[in-house]
Formats: sequence, structure tokens, C-alpha cells
Amino acid sequence: MKCKKCGEKASIHMRQHKLALCKEHYLEWVPEQTERFIKKYEMFNRDEKILVAVSGGKDSLSLWDILVRLGYQVDGLYLGLGIDGGINYSHESQRLTEEFAQRIISNFTWWILKRNTASPYPCWRKAATADTGSPAPCAGSPNATK
Ligand SMILES: [Zn+2]
Repeated sequence: MKCKKCGEKASIHMRQHKLALCKEHYLEWVPEQTERFIKKYEMFNRDEKILVAVSGGKDSLSLWDILVRLGYQVDGLYLGLGIDGGINYSHESQRLTEEFAQRIISNFTWWILKRNTASPYPCWRKAATADTGSPAPCAGSPNATK
């Protein structure tokens, strides 16, 4: 199968779109489609601030990245649910989100909602910005350094 745009070997074939694209053209197509649907459904504009909930997985981090690249004012929000599952799941997800924000998103702010054991209420905090780098501890949280 060949890329519909350049004729090189396709990396992906999307049957629902009847479209095959090489890696380069797929990486152009996804932001174009994102922009098209934002406008079609009048979701938001570049004057509005957008908050993207990120899990640390490829889907939410890609959306965050695409919206930033398209020029939207986007903050990331990571929800630290304290899930362990024998693999330290939440901690690893937060680590991946932090790494992504610092490495890929050059001008970012991201927020964290973290549960702590001392309070039934989760703690909101501005986790980091491009200027401050690493997150600040949750005020009053005994688990703040975790
Ligand atoms: Zn191509």
C-alpha cells in the first residue's frame, strides 16, 4: 500500500477514512484533522485557555502536544489516583507525564490532582511550569514528597 500524498510506502492504512499515509504525512494529517474538527464543532478558539486531562499514555499526551503545536493555550492536568496495581502505576504515569511535559512541551504548565491519606479531599496544585521545572509539594500533604 502506498501513501496517498507522496506515493511512498504507507505506514498506516485507515480503512474508515479510505486513506493510507506514510509516517511523515500521517504526522501532518493528524493535526490537520484535529484543527478541522475543533473548528467544525466550534469547540474553542486560540483566545481561550484549554485544560487537557492527561494520563501519561500516548493518546492524551499526543492530544496535549498537538494542541500546543497548533497554537492553543493548553495546560495539562494529571490526576494522581494512587493506583499501585503491583506496578506502581500512578507513580509511573506521573513520571511519564512530567518527562513528556519537560522534554516535549517547551512552554507548558501542568497541574496535578493528588490524593493523600491525611485528607479525604484531593489536593490541587500547579505542578510545574517550563520556568520552574519540577513540581512543588502539595501544601499540607504528608505525602507531598512522594
Ligand atoms: Zn507520504
